[in-house]
Amino acid sequence: MLHRLFVAAGLALSIAVIIAGCQASTAAPTAQDAKQFLDEVDTTLNRLALDASRAGWVAQNFITVDTEAMDARATQAFSDASSRWAKQAVRFDNVEVPADQRRQLNLLKVSLVLATPSDPKESEELTNLVSSMRGVYGKGKWCPDSAKAESCMNIDDITKLLATSRNEKEIRAAWEGWHTISPPIKKDYQRFAELSNKGAKELGFADTGAMWRAKYDMAPDAFTKELDRLWDQVRPLYLQLHAYVRMKLHQKYGDVVPQKGPLPAHLLGNIWAQDWSNVYDLVAPANADAGFSLTDILKRRKMSAIDMVKAGERFYSSIGLAPLPQTFWERSLFLRPKDREVVCHASAWDIDSVNDVRIKMCIDQTAEDFSTIHHELGHNYYQRAYNTLPMIFRDSANDGFHEAIGDTIALSVTPEYLVKIGLLDKAPDASRDIGLLLSRALEKVAFLPFGLLIDQWRWKVFSGEITPAQYNQAWWDLRLKYQGVAPPSPRGDEFFDPGAKYHVPDNTPYTRYFLADILQFQFHRALAKTAGCTTPLHRCSIYESKQAGQRLNNMLSMGLSKPWPDALAAVTDSNEMDASAILDYFAPLQKWLQEQTKGQPVGW
Ligand SMILES: [Zn+2]
Repeated sequence: MLHRLFVAAGLALSIAVIIAGCQASTAAPTAQDAKQFLDEVDTTLNRLALDASRAGWVAQNFITVDTEAMDARATQAFSDASSRWAKQAVRFDNVEVPADQRRQLNLLKVSLVLATPSDPKESEELTNLVSSMRGVYGKGKWCPDSAKAESCMNIDDITKLLATSRNEKEIRAAWEGWHTISPPIKKDYQRFAELSNKGAKELGFADTGAMWRAKYDMAPDAFTKELDRLWDQVRPLYLQLHAYVRMKLHQKYGDVVPQKGPLPAHLLGNIWAQDWSNVYDLVAPANADAGFSLTDILKRRKMSAIDMVKAGERFYSSIGLAPLPQTFWERSLFLRPKDREVVCHASAWDIDSVNDVRIKMCIDQTAEDFSTIHHELGHNYYQRAYNTLPMIFRDSANDGFHEAIGDTIALSVTPEYLVKIGLLDKAPDASRDIGLLLSRALEKVAFLPFGLLIDQWRWKVFSGEITPAQYNQAWWDLRLKYQGVAPPSPRGDEFFDPGAKYHVPDNTPYTRYFLADILQFQFHRALAKTAGCTTPLHRCSIYESKQAGQRLNNMLSMGLSKPWPDALAAVTDSNEMDASAILDYFAPLQKWLQEQTKGQPVGW
């Protein structure tokens, strides 16, 4: 399943621009000044977030040059203000203020993803570099036949080919082709790292990577160690999955896939080998058929898009959360309009940071969309739960939490749940579980090492541990170390393969996706326990459990007002992240994988 865009009205927006003439007062600031500053931020943030959300909503629902320009303008105003506040908040570092105000000031300081240097020339250069790298990626195309424009493939075409083709030569050509788009931005990336580090240093951080890690309520180095600890927990399961998939792909492709050693990065159904769901048919167990098709059932019952969303709402009502406001039904987009261009990528919106929540989705009668609806609504319920806090706190406990909530609820869309809401007569028996679990593992377990390594690479680039001459080699070293994948052909220094992943040229931090992947299983396990589930975890739905809903809401309503370990403890009774919930969830699969790979090499 693709990651779904979450549009936060909080401080997540990134581009910082130069603040000219930031007035410095000579008198030492007082607690009263700090309070006044935060009050002003609250009011202005509310207004700018509202403007940006409205402009963004209209731009994505009516794509025209004008709406895009208005959207860009509103976003810029929001970013400019965030950047200004980050710099101004430093003034109050030595002022004694109440704890919740101190937290707000700290959050303002760590809110930036990109800090521009105070030198106006350098600042402008940096802003232009990011736009330019984005542009190169966005326009990126590979043309197998340079004489024929119609042969050119953009990332959507490449994605489709990698997902569906089983012709190794064709896949390899497309893989290599897509990786030709990024060498031109290698020099830009090097300069970008230099300048963004300069800006981060001016804000008091060692480098840009340290600034990103500072968002996590712990020392940057401690956070890095924490991630490694989580990965070590789940690595044995990944190794089993890796060994099994290697064995099956060897059967399919022959010696292109070695019997031991790393998997070829191009044959996993995804250009970055981050989600292996698309090769499910090549690795599926013999009795993989789930015994029912929700997609068929939705079609047979003629469930409309609204019916499907209503079913999603009923899930949340069943755990005790208040129904969605009338405006949700009036203002959301549920169907692809026939008369205009819209961005159909599913997303959840919080327009006024209070009650005007919406989703924007082009719903099809499919099992996937049914699950996605539950996911998107998770964002909306989170947004509404924290809507009385100061604006700076109206966000998730850390950036992994928002995605994790939607996915946690989607884990409760089980066959038993479908039986309870009358969509299915009878849940398939346990012998069918391996297929469901394997298909979920190809998505969620396969993703983990990739989710981790993108920022491992960037943090080392920002800190200087990886030099520009080592960019590509270090990238493949990390991919080998964590994912156990290798490129289909030698990747020398002339390439810049990290740049072929959207989030690198776009400068979007990536660790949040790793965290969300870990957290959702931890939440699910804790809520399943609260709900009194006696079934295996993958069979448990928290549907109708008011107690589980209460616990969940306790955490949601904290927003960003407390350190994330406190929010975590509200649901799990522990303030430590714990990847063992993933092992519990996939326990039957892990056992099965061990049997399948008996006598086969494991690891690379
Ligand atoms: Zn989402």
